[in-house]
Amino acid sequence: MKLKVLGCYGGNIPGHGMTSLLINDTLALDAGWVSEALSLKEQEKVKNILISHSHLDHTCTLPFLIDNNFSAPGFSLKIYAIPEVVASMRAHLFNNHTWPDFTCLPNDLTPVLKLIEIAPEHPFTINGLTIRAVKVSHIVPTAGYIVEDKDTAIAFSSDTGPTHRFWELVNGVKNLKAVITETSFPNELQDLAHVSGHLTPATLDAELRKLKKDVPIYLYGGKPKHLKTIRRQLRALKRKKLHMLVQGKTYKF
Ligand SMILES: [Zn+2]
Repeated sequence: MKLKVLGCYGGNIPGHGMTSLLINDTLALDAGWVSEALSLKEQEKVKNILISHSHLDHTCTLPFLIDNNFSAPGFSLKIYAIPEVVASMRAHLFNNHTWPDFTCLPNDLTPVLKLIEIAPEHPFTINGLTIRAVKVSHIVPTAGYIVEDKDTAIAFSSDTGPTHRFWELVNGVKNLKAVITETSFPNELQDLAHVSGHLTPATLDAELRKLKKDVPIYLYGGKPKHLKTIRRQLRALKRKKLHMLVQGKTYKF
């Protein structure tokens, strides 16, 4: 499984602060930085997007991805999310005010955009990948995703504070090769992390004790002003398989 980091955490280069990963060139995991990170040709290959939650740093390039490709022959995009997130995107994003409702364009019968509700923990397939959404603990309804092919699996928690079910399911994944999760704030801002549903290095450490598999952990989400402190506090955890995701890098699992 090939995973390219389109956007991962705060900083001074384009795409930092936005969250988006691309699997096998065709399936995006969140859309904080898709249209900006990919050429027009590359964007045309992205036919399916899993959205974890409605926050802008995970959705904000959806309108431009559709706009850039709307008139390309045969273009269509499927966006998958749990029902609460689909409802939020309908009400607040594709509502004809913030952006046109592309689920009715060019007409109701053959729209370029389909918003597809998925039930948490019910597997479904896209391009040979088996996918499960699992609810995590953020301030709005949010799902992480477990993505599996026949010999590899990765798990992405998306934005979350301390959570339970995600780790329970991840521990049961046979071919798990990596977990991608977040660390947004340094330990000094634990209160802020708590009210906003995010992790610090300290709460990440507690979360990782729930993981029973010895796999690499990749992090995203560090707020730009605190990246140095977060990195230092992560190093102090002395966990050998803990890494920050690298913007623009392609990982093979
Ligand atoms: Zn969020």
